[in-house]
Amino acid sequence: MEKIAVIGAGASGLFVAGLLAQKGLDVTVFDKNEKVGKKLFITGKGRCNLTNLCPPEEFLKNVVRGDKFLLSALHGFSSEDCVAFFEGLGLKTKVERGNRVFPSSDKSSDVIKVLQNVHCSGVNFSLSNNVKKIEKLENGMFAVFAQKGEEMFDKVIVATGGKSYSSTGSDGAGYEFARGFGHTIEEIRPALCPIVLKDWFVGTLQGVSLKNVSLNAVADGKKISQFGEMIFTDRGISGPIALTMSSLVNRAKNVELSLDFKPALSEKQLDLRLLREFEANKNKDLSNVLKNLLPKVVAEIFAKAVGLDEKKKIHDITKEERQKILFGLKDFKLDYGELYDLEAGIVTSGGISTKEINPKTFESKLASGLYFLGEVLDVDALTGGFNLQIAWSTAYVCAKAIAGY
Ligand SMILES: Cc1cc2nc3c(=O)[nH]c(=O)nc-3n(C[C@H](O)[C@H](O)[C@H](O)COP(=O)(O)OP(=O)(O)OC[C@H]3O[C@@H](n4cnc5c(N)ncnc54)[C@H](O)[C@@H]3O)c2cc1C
Repeated sequence: MEKIAVIGAGASGLFVAGLLAQKGLDVTVFDKNEKVGKKLFITGKGRCNLTNLCPPEEFLKNVVRGDKFLLSALHGFSSEDCVAFFEGLGLKTKVERGNRVFPSSDKSSDVIKVLQNVHCSGVNFSLSNNVKKIEKLENGMFAVFAQKGEEMFDKVIVATGGKSYSSTGSDGAGYEFARGFGHTIEEIRPALCPIVLKDWFVGTLQGVSLKNVSLNAVADGKKISQFGEMIFTDRGISGPIALTMSSLVNRAKNVELSLDFKPALSEKQLDLRLLREFEANKNKDLSNVLKNLLPKVVAEIFAKAVGLDEKKKIHDITKEERQKILFGLKDFKLDYGELYDLEAGIVTSGGISTKEINPKTFESKLASGLYFLGEVLDVDALTGGFNLQIAWSTAYVCAKAIAGY
């Protein structure tokens, strides 16, 4: 019987292992952790956003790197297949805003339970066993050198994840295994992570959240705009639109950021609104009127940030000054610093070059019998269940190729 080693008991590793064991193969899953699915446990804030049921074209728009490479895998095992698969294991699911799928129980631990206890019932687990090296021998077998000893396998599947949130086990070891077989590693960059700002007011705004705003960027000349919610952190910005922005600008050399506080209003409409506010509050300070347009703490820094005196009476505000306020509301400059470090990325951008991987099997083009799945590859997507779907799809297609589903 063919012996298969799967390195990594995360999303893709557990999924592929169960499928192969069900086809009668002798499968051993190695993980350095004492339990399986440590990253899965923290996904979706502990609720695990399993996949996303948006139409396929929209799905691909959410894949930042590797969309073409992943086409056949996503077709081979779609988000509908994913839902059917988990329901088949006895896990009830529900669909939330934006086609996001979660377990009905809202517990990621339930996803792990069905994967480990039901799906992987025929799999051997070698936990607390850090794999240090993989070598291909002259007889075509693979030697897996792990903390607890050395073992031989016919095939090896590397499912070690990326290089962020390393406390969950994904510390980039997979890149080293791949390098050992001559693979190219595309530059690793943080993705879906907060953004550091250099503005003087950043610390002051910590915890302030903004809804229905547009975060705009010009990244190496390319314009990008994200509408939605964001939150100020101690060093910069986070929240959905900032995380998405980080994935879209993480390779740019030059990034300019700005905020549109009132994206629903054109400049003309906003100017009329300002005129109305000014007319009704002629004898008030500018700071008081700004509070009608912005959250209080933001209003407090706004005047200074656009170069105006917050104590100035509205009846003294000149037309030019009103223009400054208008432009400040529509195009409030943020001083981009950098991205938070790799560790803070919900996913890792970059990884094993997809040019060296067969997209129909996920086998290495440089070493037969060696496979790479999930985040260790140079693929990444936005939030919404897309990254886990990539893990499931790559795993399914690989299992199908090895065991002939
Ligand atoms: C906070 C957070 C929330 C997230 N939420 C979501 C979400 O809701 N929906 C979504 O789609 N995506 C989400 N993601 C992303 C998603 O979790 C990952 O993309 C996905 O888990 C990648 O799966 P994987 O199988 O490639 O790797 P992982 O799930 O990271 O698994 C890799 C495994 O390999 C093991 N390993 C690594 N090196 C070795 C070694 N040398 N020896 C032995 N074992 C090793 C690790 O211990 C780990 O268990 C989230 C990520 C984070 C950090």
